Amino acid sequence: MPFLPLPPPDCEGAYTEYQVVKIFGDLLPEFHRWMVGQTMPICNGRRWDPFNQKYQQACGGISHGPCYYDCDVVEFAEGKDRGLENVPVTDW
Ligand SMILES: [Zn+2]
Repeated sequence: MPFLPLPPPDCEGAYTEYQVVKIFGDLLPEFHRWMVGQTMPICNGRRWDPFNQKYQQACGGISHGPCYYDCDVVEFAEGKDRGLENVPVTDW
């Protein structure tokens, strides 16, 4: 069963922990190990608006907490769909 296509991320540009648990299932510990050292966003339900110099509500005001950038989740899922045992980490 391929991982792709993935469901849309619940957070803006990022998947929540709840989502990656559902997506990766038994591979979750491997995904967590793969993520070590990679940047993760922390969602607090708002985003900085540099033009108006104030915070705007994001994610419907929900704080998703620590999330995983969608590019990382897609990269790991693609690597596993291609049958890679060790998915290389790409720095963007
Ligand atoms: Zn969010």
